[in-house]
Amino acid sequence: MNAECPECETEIPLAPDTELWDLVECPNCGAHLEVIDLEPPELDYALEEEELEEEDEDEEWLDEEEEGF
Ligand SMILES: [Zn+2]
Repeated sequence: MNAECPECETEIPLAPDTELWDLVECPNCGAHLEVIDLEPPELDYALEEEELEEEDEDEEWLDEEEEGF
């Protein structure tokens, strides 16, 4: 079965044992997607963990990067 990438509208082949909320990566644009529906198969952008973190943690991450340089 195939599902359409919401980013570039490419038809992405899904494995026969694909389950709801499985994560897939678009082979065309590299978007991280998750299966939000199976009847019919439908994909939506997967939420990156980084986006769920608070701004304070983002600032910490930037500080660490500066120290690395
Ligand atoms: Zn795509």
